[in-house]
Amino acid sequence: MADNANQSFFNDVCSFFDHAAQYTQHPSGLLDQIKACNSVYRFRFPIRKGDGFEVIDAWRVEHSHHMSPTKGGIRYSEMVNEDEVMALAALMTYKCAIVNVPFGGAKGGIKINTKNYTIAELETITRRYTVELVKKNFIGPAIDVPAPDYGSGEREMSWIADTYNTMNPGQLDSLGCVTGKPISLHGIMGRKEATGRGVAISIRECVDVAEDMKPLGLTPGLDGKRVIVQGLGNVGSNAAKFLIEFGATVVGLCEYEGAIYNEDGLDLKEVMEHRKETGSILGFGGARLQFANPAEGLEQDCDILVPAALENQITSANIDRIQAKIIAEAANGPTSPEAADRFIAKGGLIIPDMYCNAGGVTVSYFEWLKNLSHVSFGRMDKRYDETANKNLVNLVEKLTGVSLSTEQRSLVIRGASELELVNSGLEETMIHSYHDIRHVKNNDNRINDLRTAAFVMAINKIAVSYMNMGIWP
Ligand code: GLU
Repeated sequence: MADNANQSFFNDVCSFFDHAAQYTQHPSGLLDQIKACNSVYRFRFPIRKGDGFEVIDAWRVEHSHHMSPTKGGIRYSEMVNEDEVMALAALMTYKCAIVNVPFGGAKGGIKINTKNYTIAELETITRRYTVELVKKNFIGPAIDVPAPDYGSGEREMSWIADTYNTMNPGQLDSLGCVTGKPISLHGIMGRKEATGRGVAISIRECVDVAEDMKPLGLTPGLDGKRVIVQGLGNVGSNAAKFLIEFGATVVGLCEYEGAIYNEDGLDLKEVMEHRKETGSILGFGGARLQFANPAEGLEQDCDILVPAALENQITSANIDRIQAKIIAEAANGPTSPEAADRFIAKGGLIIPDMYCNAGGVTVSYFEWLKNLSHVSFGRMDKRYDETANKNLVNLVEKLTGVSLSTEQRSLVIRGASELELVNSGLEETMIHSYHDIRHVKNNDNRINDLRTAAFVMAINKIAVSYMNMGIWP
C-alpha cells in the first residue's frame, strides 16, 4: 500500500479496508455499503467574539447505521476537516465491531483552537453545536451518542447533556445522549482512564504471547520492556501510567515542544509535574537526552512505541528509523499504510488503533447502559455479595477452625464497587478481543498482520448485521 499522495486519512482507512476485504467473501456491493460514510453533516454557526462575530465550522459524521445508536467522540481542533472526521467515524464502526460494542460508528469535529477561546465562549460553541445536532436528529440516546475526543472532556460533555436535556424535557433516557460525563452528571467511574488503561492491557496481552515475541527477539511479558510514548494527553499519560504499573519502563516521552529520553527510565509523575510547572517536558532533570524536534524522540531505542497523539505520525519518511519492535497505536491512524507495510515487512508488529484504543468506547458503552438502567453498577448486589461472602467465611472458619486476619476477611468479603466492575468489564473485553484477532490472523496464512485480521473480523461482523436486517441475501 502506498502513502496517500493526497494525504486523505479516509482513503488510508479505506485502503486498509480494501486490503482486508480480499480475505472475506462478501459481494462487492455489501463491502461498498460497509465502507461508505452513511451521513455527513457539515454545518456552520456564528458566535459572538469580542466586538463582532465569528463563524465556526463543524461536522458530525455517522459512518454506519448497521447498529443504533451510532457512537464516537467530538474533536475540537484547528486541524479538523471533513476527511478526518469521516476517517475517524469509519474507525469507530470497526472499533465497536471488534470489541462487540453494539453501536455504529460516528465522529464529530469543531474547527477551533480551544486555547483561543474563553470558557464562556467554549460553552457557547458547544451548546450551539448540540442545538444544531438536535435540529437535524443527529444526537440522542437511541440515535447518535457523542463522547470526548482530542480537545474535549467531561466539561464539554456536561454542556452537551444539559443542552440536550433542556431541549427534550421529560425524555426518560436523555442522559444517555452523551458519554464521558462527570460522575455528578451520571457519568461512570473509570471512563477517563479507560482508553489509556485499555492500551496498556492490549500491549500486556500482546507481549505475553511467547510464540509471537520470539520472532521479534523479545522475551514474553511486560517486565522491563522499554517503552516510548508520544503524547501526554489523557490517553498517553494514562497508557504510560498503567504500563509502568504492569512492569514496563518508560524510557522516552514526546510532546509537541520536544522529546526526552533516559534508557534507565523516566519518572512519569515527576515529568508531569515538571511540565505543569515549566510548560514543557524539556529541561527535565531526569532526562539523559533531549530533542527540540519531537519526531526524533520516536526514533530512539526501545521495544515498544506508543503513538498517543494524532494521525499520520509514522510515515514512509521516518519508518526506517523507528527502532521499536512493536507499535501500539493508542491514537487513531498514527501509521500510514505504506509505513505499516514496511514495518511489518521488516518483522515488526503493530497493535492496530481500532483495537488498541477501544477501551474508551467500551467504557462509554457501560456508561450508556448505566444511563438507560438509571442505576449505578454494583448498587443492587454489592451488599448482598458482602453478606453472602461473610456467611461463607464464617462457615468455613467454623468448620476448619482456621480464622482469617481482619485484612484477609475484608479482602474476601468485600463486594465489587462500580470502578472495579467497570475495570473488570474493560479488561475482559480487551483480553478477549486480542485473542479473537490473533485467532483470525493465525487461521489464514495469507494474513500477516493484526490490522488486516482486525478488519476481517469487523467486516464479517458488520456483514452479518446487514444480512440479519435482510438488506443482503
Ligand atoms: N473518542 C474516543 C474514541 O476515539 C471515544 C469514543 C466514545 O467513547 O464514544 O474511541
